[in-house]
Amino acid sequence: MTAATYSDVWNLEVFFKGGSGSAELAEHLKVTKELIEAFETKVNNWTPLNKINDKIYLKELLSDFEHAGKKLRQASAFVGCLQAQNTEDKKAYALEATVTALSATFQSALSAFDNLLSSINDEVWAQVLDDEYLTELTFSLTERRERAKDKLSIEEEALISALGVDGYHSWGQLYDLIVSKIKIPVEENGEVNQLSVGQASNRFSSTDRDVRASVFKSWENSWNEQADYLSKTLNHLSGFRLNVYKKRGWEDVLKEPLSINRMQKETLETMWAVITENKKPLVEYLNRKAKLLGIEKLSWFDLDAPYGKTESKVSYQEGAKFIEQNFAQFGEKMSAFAKKAFENQWIEAEDRPGKAPGGFCTGFPESEESRIFMTYSGTPSNVSTLAHELGHGFHSYAMRGVQYLNRGYAMNVAETASTFAEMIVADAAVKNAKDEEEKLALLDDKIQRTVALLMNIHARFLFETRFYEERKRGPVSVETLNELMEGAQKEAYCEALDEYHPLFWASKLHFFITGVPFYNFPYTFGYLFSLGIYAQALEEGKGYEEKYIALLRDTASMTVEDLAAKHLQVDLVQKDFWEKAVQICIDDIEEFLQLTEKK
Ligand SMILES: [Zn+2]
Repeated sequence: MTAATYSDVWNLEVFFKGGSGSAELAEHLKVTKELIEAFETKVNNWTPLNKINDKIYLKELLSDFEHAGKKLRQASAFVGCLQAQNTEDKKAYALEATVTALSATFQSALSAFDNLLSSINDEVWAQVLDDEYLTELTFSLTERRERAKDKLSIEEEALISALGVDGYHSWGQLYDLIVSKIKIPVEENGEVNQLSVGQASNRFSSTDRDVRASVFKSWENSWNEQADYLSKTLNHLSGFRLNVYKKRGWEDVLKEPLSINRMQKETLETMWAVITENKKPLVEYLNRKAKLLGIEKLSWFDLDAPYGKTESKVSYQEGAKFIEQNFAQFGEKMSAFAKKAFENQWIEAEDRPGKAPGGFCTGFPESEESRIFMTYSGTPSNVSTLAHELGHGFHSYAMRGVQYLNRGYAMNVAETASTFAEMIVADAAVKNAKDEEEKLALLDDKIQRTVALLMNIHARFLFETRFYEERKRGPVSVETLNELMEGAQKEAYCEALDEYHPLFWASKLHFFITGVPFYNFPYTFGYLFSLGIYAQALEEGKGYEEKYIALLRDTASMTVEDLAAKHLQVDLVQKDFWEKAVQICIDDIEEFLQLTEKK
């Protein structure tokens, strides 16, 4: 029997023929622009009468929104793929600018739309929603309405947005500019190389401790040299955000991030409490890792050090088969989905120059297809990445047919399906390891991720909440920022490290992202939420797939608490669910500790 050979280059021609010079795409963009402008005009012409007739107009608007939204998404996904497959494609950058401008118009029309929703009184609102089509959208529409109500007047919010372009958001851009100029001098093979931030951070996963230590020293120095500029940037960015919150009457800095992630504060607190109570095994792992490296205690720069030096290679074909087979252990639909993605060239994995770094999965809603981008060079972690991205693809696949407005899932559940798919494959890889050394290397890789999500992200969260409290009282100095960061790291890592990274507030981009506040806890939530589902799937076996799909379909149309109650029969405010999820991480650690006992 001859096995099918999968292509490792994707097919984008099915969407628009001719790449960045596509005439079909140009026509599509023209139509999209007309649809968005028509939507905008319609929104501007609508004054809710606070009568049941508003329903008719609302339904028309929603249909226009769906039509325009899908077209825009189809175009932006295509352009993103063009840019990723060839970073030299100049026409693709021009197309990106067109898509960005269209998105901005669409977003402002949507804000105006949300304001109109908030102007409908409660009584009429209830009547409007009493409708076969609209009832399905109750959550999404009510959420938009409530969020608009929570903000200032439409004029004031428009002024804030306008001022934010050169105020708030430009601080974030200034950060990127400063970072792009930073050079980190590192001595290698007798000469001093000026590394970029990205190049230097790759050195932290070197197997040579001297390399990691010397890069780290230079790393801290370089960030310290820029600390005055970066602290000013952070202070103004956060000051702007806090001022907006104050005007809106929002006292808690977590109000907005929690609302974006559709979760309650109690849920977040319970999650961190369970993590904090279960740090002991993580500390034991860090201590064991130090022992294996022949040192007393790990330093910050040792956290990404790999276990062992051997790394086996897995061909793309082998990787694909491995994923298909192991997805099949869980359920037929997921396995069939992966097969379809491989067969129909949904994946761009070729290892060639000129591609963008990283990986992603993007959806084409008009075609109900996804495309996955990555560079596959044959490492075990490439197989995990491939499984991860296929998980994202499966999430979109599970949501096909769901109303467009009900497909906007938040960051904290965005990683559910991807982490789940990755866990299936990572666990299978550990089980199939050819010897103990390989097994340990794979386990170590998994545990490093756990440490990152339960300790590193915890430190970021502790720092950021404390920093914002401090900032409410006035600008925060470099010294205080360093102290707050080091304190947060010591707490999150339970003092298990020898040296910390006080300038992490400067070196971590995530504190400077203005698009989304608190770019940290949703990662940890997503990871543990997914592991909790994985734990249930392991208990229930193959029949679980249908339940899993039903959960994925609801990820954007309810709060996370309701999602968990409906599909997992658990209360996220209680500890049990989180404890089970953390236990999966602890199981890996226990296995690692046992296998390395005598080393
Ligand atoms: Zn992902």
